[in-house]
Amino acid sequence: MRPLSEHQKSWKTNNRNPKGSFDPLDGVIVHHTGPYTTDAGMVSYCVTSSSALPGPLCHGVIGRDGKVYLVGYGRANHAGDGDNDVLNADIAESYATNPPATKKGEGDPGAADGNSHFYGFECINSGSGKEPWPEKQLDAITRACTALCRAHGWTAKSVIGHLEWNDQKSDPKGFTMASIRARVAERLKHQANWTPTPPPPAPSTPSLEARVATLE
Ligand SMILES: [Zn+2]
Repeated sequence: MRPLSEHQKSWKTNNRNPKGSFDPLDGVIVHHTGPYTTDAGMVSYCVTSSSALPGPLCHGVIGRDGKVYLVGYGRANHAGDGDNDVLNADIAESYATNPPATKKGEGDPGAADGNSHFYGFECINSGSGKEPWPEKQLDAITRACTALCRAHGWTAKSVIGHLEWNDQKSDPKGFTMASIRARVAERLKHQANWTPTPPPPAPSTPSLEARVATLE
């Protein structure tokens, strides 16, 4: 029997559990990946990564087309250190629109170990802040985060961005986490298979001919 290639590694057992805990779980962190040549290449990188930054680098990668690729389950190398005040606000789920501004990053004294508290989704985007986020991808981010909130009994306030966790990070860029939390909060009011009805088309402006006809 041939050994499994890295690409075939099962997400269910792909983790860094020997390096630390994955407990207690308190929320989800959303990231952008930064540039990469192909989606498949990015997924593969997040599965195994490199010796300098060992994988898994997240629990799932979310493509621009809305596909969610499961990468790992257990401790993953995605969140790094962050602010205990943010963690406590996330646990209490009591903040208004945004958690308190993070004041901690990697290696800061008193920082909390995010990899033991958070799931992580790496969402494929260059991270320039200018690349638009397709609706399909934003919807998939919302659905993936909502599924975890449902499974754990969390509200949307347990979903934060990497930039809200670690003061050295700027991801995700191009949408606000408040907008994702609003979408997750709305989804949580419905069954898991809910698909929003598109808004009715705006009434079109009557043509000049129609307006003239009315005047007549
Ligand atoms: Zn990140």
